[in-house]
Amino acid sequence: MEKKKRKHRLRNIAGLGFAGMALLLGGLTAGHLHKKSMHQSKWGTLENPRYKITCSIKEEPATFQDYITAESAEAKSKAEQTGQILNNFGKSNIKKIKQRHQELSSYFANHQISDEQRKQLDNYYSDITAQLIEGAPEGLEEYIARLGQLERLKEASYLLNSEIDLRQMEQTCSETTETIDRITKEVKFVMLMQLSRSSSLADKYGDVQDYARKLFEEMTEKPLPEGVTINIEEIAEKEVAGLANFLQGSVKSEDAHYARVLMVMMHELGHLSAQQRETAYFSLNPFSAGSREVTLLEEACAYAFEIAAAYKLMESNEELGKTSRAAIFLYTRDFAQEYFKGESEYHREAMAIADAAVTVFGDAAKAYNYLAAEARPGELDPRITAVIEENRRKYEFATREGHSGIEEIKQMDKDIFDLYVQVHPKGKEEQRMHEEALKAAEEEMKQH
Ligand SMILES: [Zn+2]
Repeated sequence: MEKKKRKHRLRNIAGLGFAGMALLLGGLTAGHLHKKSMHQSKWGTLENPRYKITCSIKEEPATFQDYITAESAEAKSKAEQTGQILNNFGKSNIKKIKQRHQELSSYFANHQISDEQRKQLDNYYSDITAQLIEGAPEGLEEYIARLGQLERLKEASYLLNSEIDLRQMEQTCSETTETIDRITKEVKFVMLMQLSRSSSLADKYGDVQDYARKLFEEMTEKPLPEGVTINIEEIAEKEVAGLANFLQGSVKSEDAHYARVLMVMMHELGHLSAQQRETAYFSLNPFSAGSREVTLLEEACAYAFEIAAAYKLMESNEELGKTSRAAIFLYTRDFAQEYFKGESEYHREAMAIADAAVTVFGDAAKAYNYLAAEARPGELDPRITAVIEENRRKYEFATREGHSGIEEIKQMDKDIFDLYVQVHPKGKEEQRMHEEALKAAEEEMKQH
């Protein structure tokens, strides 16, 4: 959404054309220079920004690397266990099951039974155990014997599946999973909190705008420039929670839970204090302000600032701090995962960069100061690039290893079940009942 807007603005400037630009050049340059010096007197320059995070932050931040290292360790142990179970069961056994499945598939494909026979079979199955051996309806013996085999196949596959599920349930008691469970609980709490409005805690903590200003000044140990406005406003664009305007020196956030609004405001203030875009905008080539590299770096600055704010908040207000810390962790995790999955939208990549910088410096304040004052668009400390690549490898490992082996068995189980449903009258009936129950449940849920 923000991207769309920026493209619009660029097109308008480009719309002037070369002749128009040349005519306007004198006046434009003077106006531009004035704005530039006004801006720099408030915010400093890229080389010497007025605002850095000068406070110390006590708590060590949790990063995507912590999370994905735990996840890939778990994926590894899951894969090892699946491998063990597969070995115990015997890979050759699985091969046999698959082969038998194929034979049976072709048998049932070539031996269709009539409706009359199916009815007989249906009745017959009403007392399956007693009548399986004797008293089978005429001409159905072989068919029934095959069905019996199919039952056994189904059972074999089912047992294997249950064993794997059981082992994995044991696995969920491991330390790693406990950590993830704890984080998930914190996150659920945050989600619930998002349903509330910032005003509900204003009596307790004061107006959220004032809190944002106070936290910014505590972090940078400098007052915000005169005239900077911080507001709560509805934002029409979907998926945009906050906006910063560096020319007006204004930030706004949509209303939500107090801690969330506070963090959005800190994020937007992070946009204002980083001078990447401004420097490009006030340069000889103002078009570069909209380039992907500049946008990406400024966004990474804003995220690093937000992470630093969440951890700083822990020191003075544990309640809001914990909520903010959990929320920023969730945000980092989701965006990094989406980025590694191949999502090219720039907020995801910016988050992966900010998080990697926090990992390298072990401190969000240092990460912000580096990104805002030392990094240049398109050029990052190679240690940051290396962390991103390491995270990517671990992410790929966790998503790949966590599923290998199990997928093969699940597919086999599904194939056998499909065949069972196809030829087994009871199977069909069971499936119909199951589908009906599902439908009924869905209907019921819709009504509530
Ligand atoms: Zn942003």
